[in-house]
Amino acid sequence: MMKLCYFPSSLLLTLPVLLTPVLADGPFYGDPPDAHHPWGVHDMNRPQPKRVEAGTFSSQETPGKPPSDAVVLFDGTAASLDNWEPGGKPKDDKRWVEVDGALQCTPGAGTLQTKAQFADCQLHVEWAAPTEIVGKSQGRGNSGVFLMGEVEVQVLDNYNNPSYPDGMAGSVYGVNPPMANPLFAPGVWQTYDITFRRPIFKDGVEVDPGYLTVFINGVLVQDHTPLEGGGGHRGRSKSRPFKESGPLQLQDHGNPIRYRNIWYRPLPPRAIEGGTDGRLTLEAALAKRQETATVIRRDAESKTGTDKMYRLFESLCYAPHVQTLQTATAMSAEYVASLQKASKEDLEKRKGEVMQARQAFDYLVKHEFVPADFAAKGAVDALIEAQGWNEKKK
Ligand code: MG
Repeated sequence: MMKLCYFPSSLLLTLPVLLTPVLADGPFYGDPPDAHHPWGVHDMNRPQPKRVEAGTFSSQETPGKPPSDAVVLFDGTAASLDNWEPGGKPKDDKRWVEVDGALQCTPGAGTLQTKAQFADCQLHVEWAAPTEIVGKSQGRGNSGVFLMGEVEVQVLDNYNNPSYPDGMAGSVYGVNPPMANPLFAPGVWQTYDITFRRPIFKDGVEVDPGYLTVFINGVLVQDHTPLEGGGGHRGRSKSRPFKESGPLQLQDHGNPIRYRNIWYRPLPPRAIEGGTDGRLTLEAALAKRQETATVIRRDAESKTGTDKMYRLFESLCYAPHVQTLQTATAMSAEYVASLQKASKEDLEKRKGEVMQARQAFDYLVKHEFVPADFAAKGAVDALIEAQGWNEKKK
């Protein structure tokens, strides 16, 4: 049964204040764009996040369904085997094979890689170590997931098998150990959920090291771990640029590891790559603000009356524009004159609208998009005072 929630009576006394109209779902509300943020706080001009139909979780018996925008790399069908190719020259005629809906390493077949080349991604991979336990430490159930063919998230049967921590399952191999060992027993399907950001260099200088976040079976084992180049065996890995994209590789380390339900979702660009979320450079923030101002001004042309006036003022929050300021200011003068002509009774009916005008004009003055002596603000303030709408001071 649904629970009902009651306000304590003391709270009800404050409700009239909450009923003062506030355009939370529109302009003139949160702090405006600034030198490094092209969007205001709570900005409705910001693009809506794209709609994604979520998938389902896997059970041991059945792989889950990927989210709707995932690129499926292996779904258990022989057809999805076509998404893969040998990463090098395989020994003899050995190949990775599809067995009962799983992609299985045939020792000697060598690295398997996707034909697709990609970079920053959310990656989902499930794997199972052989039930027949052979070897120890790095020799037991070893494989690996190589992002862009460059950096390995280790796959290793560490269920009851200690090894060097920076080479254990979920390690960024040779760079950083996993924070925990949440592996299931050999033969049981294990889930890796990974987010990967490649290193970015500009003019030979590292501007972002790149990062790996890894969950094993839902347990966080890498928390935005900075990359130090590709990682490596025995040698200390050093930061270096990657290409723009590369294949996903699965390692043949001599063990018949099985994989299933492999998919990825490309990630949107970071601010340093042209993304407009996060902290941007001054140049990038100003460019995006200019673009948004232009879009809003164009949209204003399709509107009339106060809708048009507010839209024009709104554009000024993104970029100054002398003619727009003049047009919008003239419109605000006309609007205020129409309010001043209205009867007290008519104004009472338009209270919400007038209070919204005050919110907008206050905002524009406060953030210096219009001059401090902006006439429409003074006029609306006076009108509100005359109507007795100002809340009584205690
Ligand atoms: Mg490995």
